[in-house]
Amino acid sequence: MLITPARLRSLLSGVLAPGGHVALAALIANDDFRIDGERVTLTVRIDGKDADAWEPVRREAQERLASVSGITSALVVLTAERKGQGAVATEAASGFAALAGIRHIVAVASGKGGVGKSTTTCNLALALAGMGLKVGVLDADIYGPSMPRLFALKGQPTVKSGRVLNPLEAYGCKVMSIGFVVDSETAMIWRGPMVASAITQMLRDIDWGALDILLIDMPPGTGDAQLTLSQQGRLAGAVIVSTPQDLALIDARRGVAMFRDVGVPVLGLVENMSYFLCDACGKRHDIFAHGGARREAERLAIPFLGEVPLDMEVRRRSDDGMPVMIAAPDSVPAEAYRLIATGLRERLQGLQPAAI
Ligand code: ADP
Repeated sequence: MLITPARLRSLLSGVLAPGGHVALAALIANDDFRIDGERVTLTVRIDGKDADAWEPVRREAQERLASVSGITSALVVLTAERKGQGAVATEAASGFAALAGIRHIVAVASGKGGVGKSTTTCNLALALAGMGLKVGVLDADIYGPSMPRLFALKGQPTVKSGRVLNPLEAYGCKVMSIGFVVDSETAMIWRGPMVASAITQMLRDIDWGALDILLIDMPPGTGDAQLTLSQQGRLAGAVIVSTPQDLALIDARRGVAMFRDVGVPVLGLVENMSYFLCDACGKRHDIFAHGGARREAERLAIPFLGEVPLDMEVRRRSDDGMPVMIAAPDSVPAEAYRLIATGLRERLQGLQPAAI
């Protein structure tokens, strides 16, 4: 059966807004739905202070929509914005204009924190830029934004016009981070729906200009923020970063499953801290059972993009705000990032029509 906003609205008729007196369907309009093939996003405008009360309603509505046959994924987003402010749904219906100049948007994700996802994103971006591509990085890791530190960027984005911001720039990459505008303690206390709408705003309100590739540093895990980005971010695909330990791989597997569920192709797996490159003896030591990610990639039938050693320089340079790609372009880790970038580019070239 054809999926129309009117039909989806009527399916929500049994869902009641907080208080239990008013049907959710009465509070939303048809154009609050965005239907993109088998994916649907519903934006519900609420008073920000009622976010907690709305959360169970949001979940119920999301479950109902997800159970409709012909819909493979459903997302219900709460927002405190009003329509007059340029509501999400209206702009979403025509796609995010700000993303129009971007050829490929790629999420860099990990099942859990601390595996080196942000470090990988930063150096991968620089490796891609080194190949002559126009690259942007969106730091959507709202709970622990690292791009300001990794790119040694301070200060605030300038306003282009209205509420549209210009990204900052470092080492030839355009960079935007929630860390430029909100301190991380504030971000920490945001709830799921708030995070989702902050990410939506970041996607919509940044003037990236023309880019070959935008890398999005995702928050760790597989929660609502991932779903939002997967559905609203027009993702070409995702790169999953994992360490070799089995525990991290289990989380990585979950990440792969999540992207598959929402129809986003997994472009490849990267094994970070793959082996230890000893700066004293020059030898490599397989501290963890090295190669786990490669085997896992084979098992899951996804490409293996490469392995980055655990290297003191990578960490030290990251802390200094001069990433290893810039500080030591001939080092082993820099070569590893270049290899991964080449593999990723090949994957993207395989995706039609906007090859780079
Ligand atoms: P995540 O984004 O997954 O939370 P980060 O990129 O912030 O992880 O990395 C966590 C820590 O590990 C940081 O201190 C970073 O400098 C360090 N790190 C990441 N990758 C490597 C590596 N290949 N070698 C050495 N240290 C690394």
